[in-house]
Amino acid sequence: MNTRLLINGKLVAGKGALEQVLDPATGKPLATVPEASKEQIDAAVQAARAAFEGWAATPPKGRATLLLRLADRIEAEAAEFASLESRNCGKPLAAALGDEIPAVADVFRFFAGAARTVHGLVAGEYVAGFTSMIRRDPVGVIASIAPWNYPLMMAAWKLAPALAAGNTVVIKPSEQTPLSTLKLATLLAELFPPGVVNVICGRGLSVGAPLISHPDVAMISLTGDVATGEKVLAAAAKGTKRTHLELGGKAPVIVFDDADIESVVNGVRTFGYYNAGQDCTAACRIYAGAKVYDRLVADLAAAVGTIKVGTQQQEGVEMGPLISAEQRDRVAGFVGRATEKKHIEVVTGGKVRAGKGFFFEPTVIAGARQSDEIVRREVFGPVVSVTRFKDADDAVAWANDSDYGLASSVWTHDVGRAMQVAARLRYGCTWINTHFVLVSEMPHGGLKRSGYGKDLSMYALEDYSVVRHVMVKH
Ligand code: NAD
Repeated sequence: MNTRLLINGKLVAGKGALEQVLDPATGKPLATVPEASKEQIDAAVQAARAAFEGWAATPPKGRATLLLRLADRIEAEAAEFASLESRNCGKPLAAALGDEIPAVADVFRFFAGAARTVHGLVAGEYVAGFTSMIRRDPVGVIASIAPWNYPLMMAAWKLAPALAAGNTVVIKPSEQTPLSTLKLATLLAELFPPGVVNVICGRGLSVGAPLISHPDVAMISLTGDVATGEKVLAAAAKGTKRTHLELGGKAPVIVFDDADIESVVNGVRTFGYYNAGQDCTAACRIYAGAKVYDRLVADLAAAVGTIKVGTQQQEGVEMGPLISAEQRDRVAGFVGRATEKKHIEVVTGGKVRAGKGFFFEPTVIAGARQSDEIVRREVFGPVVSVTRFKDADDAVAWANDSDYGLASSVWTHDVGRAMQVAARLRYGCTWINTHFVLVSEMPHGGLKRSGYGKDLSMYALEDYSVVRHVMVKH
């Protein structure tokens, strides 16, 4: 297991405080990772800065070749990556291996191709005797800050478009889940020129904050909490830096009376509890038509009650623990406060699982109202609320009545209604009769306090590059 940082092409031990990394299924230590010291943070940014000109000038084919090699290596070492990721995050091993690692490799491959297909917009004479052209160029050194829920996938979403566009990067994984990114660092050290990608570890305050405030960082990319996003904006304001923010979510799921309830139940059972609900797009806030409400609540409670909760390698396990004791207690707090309301009923789950590890039962909360905390705040755990609606306009208004604007879904057999509602929802993504299907070709990102950065797709390549005008006098 690699616990060394990657700075200027070399794997080096961190010289800062020691951070313990836990296995969330047992609460026991998995590794000790030393943080980057102040000098190491500076050295990583300086290395990225020194590497920038050469990498930016590397033709797209050259950048693409390295990204493709990286994808091949990740695939070749998929078992080791999946094992580390599942142990560090508590995820079922089968999900890490079958869902996440292939998606990670695909992201690097997509951006390898995308780097070679960027189109110029115009070249022409806008003043007689002068030719103007538009260039799309890299921004510079990007500081990338990743969260703990999908560590390797978030690293891929950040590194692939930034590198494809010709930027150099200093990435900091979450202090709770650095192991898969540190393994990635060993491949990056082999494949990429020194300084093009640097990996440093540590907590938000001791390492994240000095990194994003470094004067040689041109752009900050964060996936994380809204509160952290605001800190990033404050730091960016000081140096007039570009920002790319992917923040929280609270996805509404609008279920009309004509929906196929079996599909809804299967969909929410999967997409509300995947990764123990620690997912910014989790299908967690259901609005159900009055005629289907009772059946949906009963069927969903029964289905969610069958989710197999357990440790990473247990046969048939579908859901693991939460990332930490703190996160488990936070989720328990939300559920506890919800149950104090008379109109709310916990129809399945609702409790911390006794024994070791940070487990919380898959939970369905019925009878929730729009004003309830459980409907309004991001729980980031295996908890789904169900709210009854009579009028479609209420459902759309309630769905939109949220600080967040990342993902949403609409379930109905009526295509016209689905399209009308999709057009009215203020979310970065609306799925119809499904939820949580992501593809590398399509943008992922939010509105409102969910942020405005786009991950995946050509739009991410745009976010990690700048448009420039070059004019030639004839
Ligand atoms: P977090 O904001 O606590 O931490 C995210 C990262 O920011 C970590 O690496 C942390 O060390 C760093 N950080 C914290 N304070 C910092 C500071 N002052 N300066 C610089 N860096 C700092 O988030 P988390 O708890 O790791 O992740 C959960 C959150 O991420 C949820 O809100 C979730 O919705 C969000 N998320 C969003 C998306 C998306 O695509 N929109 C995807 C995954 C997670």
